[in-house]
Amino acid sequence: MDCLSENIQVLKGIGEYKAKLYANLGIYTIYDMLYHFPKGYKDKSQIIKIGSIIPDITCNFIGTIDSGPLEMRSKRGTIITKYIVKDETGSIGIIFYNNRFAKLLFKHGEKVVFSGKSVFINNVVQIEVPEYEKVNNNAIHTMRIVPEYSLTKGISQKEMRNSVYKALNFVKNKITDLFPADFREKYNLSEINFSIRSIHFPNSKHDLQLAKRRLKFEEIFMVQTALLHIKGTKEIEQGIAFKERESVYDYLKKLPFELTKAQQRVLDEIINDMEKAKPMNRLIQGDVGSGKTVIGFLAMLNCVKSGFQCAMMAPTEILAVQHFNTIKNFIKMGQLSIKVGLITGSQSLKNKKEIYENIKNGSIDITIGTHSLLNENLVFKNLSLVITDEQHRFGVMQRGSLKSKGNNLDTIVMSATPIPRTLSLVLYGDLDISVIDELPPNRKAVATYYIGSDKKDRLFKFIKNLIDEGRQAFFVCPLVEESEKLELLSAKQYHDFLRTNFFRKYKIGLIYGKMKNDEKDKVMKSFINGKTNIIVSTTVIEVGINIPNATVMVIENAERFGLAQLHQLRGRVGRGEFQSYCILISDTKSGLAKDRLKFMAKTNDGFELAEKDLELRGSGEILGIKQHGLPEFKILDIFRDYEIISDSKKAVDFIYKKDLLKDETYNKMINHLLNRFEKRLSDIALN
Ligand code: ADP
Ligand code: MG
Repeated sequence: MDCLSENIQVLKGIGEYKAKLYANLGIYTIYDMLYHFPKGYKDKSQIIKIGSIIPDITCNFIGTIDSGPLEMRSKRGTIITKYIVKDETGSIGIIFYNNRFAKLLFKHGEKVVFSGKSVFINNVVQIEVPEYEKVNNNAIHTMRIVPEYSLTKGISQKEMRNSVYKALNFVKNKITDLFPADFREKYNLSEINFSIRSIHFPNSKHDLQLAKRRLKFEEIFMVQTALLHIKGTKEIEQGIAFKERESVYDYLKKLPFELTKAQQRVLDEIINDMEKAKPMNRLIQGDVGSGKTVIGFLAMLNCVKSGFQCAMMAPTEILAVQHFNTIKNFIKMGQLSIKVGLITGSQSLKNKKEIYENIKNGSIDITIGTHSLLNENLVFKNLSLVITDEQHRFGVMQRGSLKSKGNNLDTIVMSATPIPRTLSLVLYGDLDISVIDELPPNRKAVATYYIGSDKKDRLFKFIKNLIDEGRQAFFVCPLVEESEKLELLSAKQYHDFLRTNFFRKYKIGLIYGKMKNDEKDKVMKSFINGKTNIIVSTTVIEVGINIPNATVMVIENAERFGLAQLHQLRGRVGRGEFQSYCILISDTKSGLAKDRLKFMAKTNDGFELAEKDLELRGSGEILGIKQHGLPEFKILDIFRDYEIISDSKKAVDFIYKKDLLKDETYNKMINHLLNRFEKRLSDIALN
């Protein structure tokens, strides 16, 4: 394995200076270089004869330098360098423009492969600025399927190719395959050295397919292994069976509303799971406002009535407090004697001590909190159910950590980020999924408008009227500080602008990411209490926050946000009895961006938007894999490679079920993959 971890400076031609450029691409080691996969390929394997070159084709041919270089200057001053190249069927001109070195490229009689486009120049077919390579046995830029890489300033396509080629020669087919031979055979995977070579310089399309399959499999296998590892490797049968179904369904009569059909279905799924001894691992996905909190509460009710403790973790203090109050309210409605405690970072030590004590002795049944819940001094008497809200805000690694405070406990994670099914299979490979795909009745859809910035005056007047009626508004900008390079509105600037112009009479708060948490909370609290009329912020306004009186969401430079993100922002309004509005302001000229914003104005369905986002922008970062705390995939396409994903899942399950980890080869393989996974996670954390 060792040659892979060598610094790329061991390669000829890469010194300190070039190494810095490669670092921009995340390439530091030979491994990084070889795992910098091509973003595409050009098939230059078809070689034709010069005699058969017709105008306007891209062609590859071999010829001997017959005459040249001839240097000329065009009327406009362009330097033109020309060679004539021939084979047994004819000859053709090769043209370079403004290239001072062009005249040094070839010598008379040399045999060269060219690849380029044929064009009419002065009524003669010639080849303009071709790629070329002297004929030898190891052509890498021509005469084959040629890789094309994503580059950085200072590294050309040709140079990149040369470096990868040198890296391949450096490892000399001596990479140890992580996957044992029988494993490769079983899952139809090609050998690693072949795969790495063929992903860069395939000898045929077929070889390329084989290489892709292997490397994609390796990539998803790594992630799935890690997920399973987090989940815990053994199938445990001795969890807790909660049996208070009756109490839960009784309680429903005391709610001021009826559950939607979707909520009812998900509740049934949860209660069924909880009745089994096997620990539950369930994800509840539901669009913003679909009513996930009450479902979480009902699960907690089942747990507490059965005599156990439960905990609910939220990503921010504001959300935790919100849940705390909601849950207390639910308890009051049912006249239940259930004790709830709140744990946050900002509590006084004395207060904390008392709550810790009551959690330990079991007098607190439900504990709500931020990640302060993970504090190692916090000990439960019999924690048996853990709920994580807005789960994507916690990293994958954190997902499991609350679990260690109980024994074989049940877990629920709740997420409002709509993601297509294939993706959830990857991100939540360790969870069963329940979907609340219906909103409570009588919800007024948020009216969404997409406007140009020239309409702002009218918009401001409109908002002013709403505020005078007692409503509140959010303004979201993509940046915090002014930026010279980008013509984007910054939150600070905007805050000043509103404060000194149109909204002088009103109280306006400002929130951005780098603010201290308690400052943020102060601003937010004043908004929740209705003291502040307007909040200007970057996207940090928290997911999940419930302020029924806020009815306006204005998003500046809306083209800068993904659909999923816009939908999340829109979900901050439309939570009460009042008609709400979301206004997307954008002067974008891009057709694609316009389409996205129009689509956003047309639909309120988060899942539909997620699918559309995918369709418009392709897979990758859009759906916020990073946001979910997972590395982005280099080669796997999570939406199209469904088959590979499910094959790999089978393989992972097989290994763990058969307890192959006891086998040294498998154990080594898994550990290696887990290391690699953690490295990629820490790479993200650094970014
Ligand atoms: P989210 O799924 O976004 O977390 P919440 O749980 O905060 O949504 O619910 C949003 C609001 O809808 C809350 O005020 C909640 O009490 C209310 N709600 C939940 N379920 C129903 C229902 N079936 N009918 C009417 N209102 C409901
Ligand atoms: Mg919520």
